[in-house]
Amino acid sequence: MLDEECRVFEPADRFLREVRLARGRAESTTKAYAHAIVLLLLWCTITGRDWRTAARDMGLFILWLRWTPGRGGQHRIVVPGPGTKAVRGNRRINQVLTGIRMFLVHAVGANEAPAWVLEQIYELGDSLDLPLEAQGESGGMRVRLRARHHLQEPETDIDRASDEEVVAMFLACRSARDRLTVLLLSRVGLRPGQTAGLRRSDSHLMMDSRALGCEAEGAHVHIIRRQNENDAWSKSKQSWVMPVDFLVVQAFDQYVIERHEVLGDEGGSDFLLVNLFRPPCGAPITTDAIGELCEALSRRAGLGRLVTPRMCRHAMASNVVDAGGKLDEVQALLGQKHPSSPRPYLHPKESRLRDAIDRVPSPRLHREGEGR
Ligand SMILES: [Zn+2]
Repeated sequence: MLDEECRVFEPADRFLREVRLARGRAESTTKAYAHAIVLLLLWCTITGRDWRTAARDMGLFILWLRWTPGRGGQHRIVVPGPGTKAVRGNRRINQVLTGIRMFLVHAVGANEAPAWVLEQIYELGDSLDLPLEAQGESGGMRVRLRARHHLQEPETDIDRASDEEVVAMFLACRSARDRLTVLLLSRVGLRPGQTAGLRRSDSHLMMDSRALGCEAEGAHVHIIRRQNENDAWSKSKQSWVMPVDFLVVQAFDQYVIERHEVLGDEGGSDFLLVNLFRPPCGAPITTDAIGELCEALSRRAGLGRLVTPRMCRHAMASNVVDAGGKLDEVQALLGQKHPSSPRPYLHPKESRLRDAIDRVPSPRLHREGEGR
């Protein structure tokens, strides 16, 4: 990271190295932190502040973030403020603030910034505003640190893709590779990064994979976080085994034939999904390409809305539960660590809600049934 005179800005550089290497965060996280620090330094330069003590004016920084376009003033607007559209929304500002908090905590720990900075960015809160699960067994109130500057973010509801939409997208595919991709998103529920990161050696599609040195039963794929050349990144830290059904296995088989026809025996890398129809042939597809495929398929299938990979993942989770799956099963299948993480993914089918009501016996019938 370079400062305005293009010298390496040491404190930030040390921090980012630690984030990336010691704590093993994603490259995208490191980039987001770096961008946050650049914004802070820019603001400090423009307003003549010292970054070490700028935390006392976080409120002003937030205003600046909200209303200053571009990289801090090339495109200065005359009267920034309410009435015009904010340049950065609350979610984006919170991301910047998170990066800056992490950076300042690191700087205080390394004696590069005074300790009172922590009081400026954190305040003491009690544990009562935490979710029940995090409050602990004792029921007593505990004191904890809470970020002082945090903006309300609107809840964004993500809809599931309907089964009809998924089928229409599947039918709109022009290759076996794209059909497999649609199933990996909507039936296996993988994220784009996990899909693009799959290797051929991750798929164990036979009933018995012991010959390959794998004890897992039935057809499955392994979801593993790796540093990939196509930047595909699994959001889950842990690896897990994802069972796949006959439909998915069939799609795999058809894709293997298609891939072989284009690339031959030796063709391509160990990546599962590779370029077949445009150069460089055999190179892994990117995470972005999966989003673009969904866009193209939504359009081609005439869905009238954009069905994203995330909506496909929601469809998978909801279908599992609609078919009688339990919450802990969905959690494991989505590769999630926390029991509450699957909740936003669930969109109960209307008929299931109807059944839930119908199962409750009428009180009158109940009394009649008891016999007088
Ligand atoms: Zn296996």
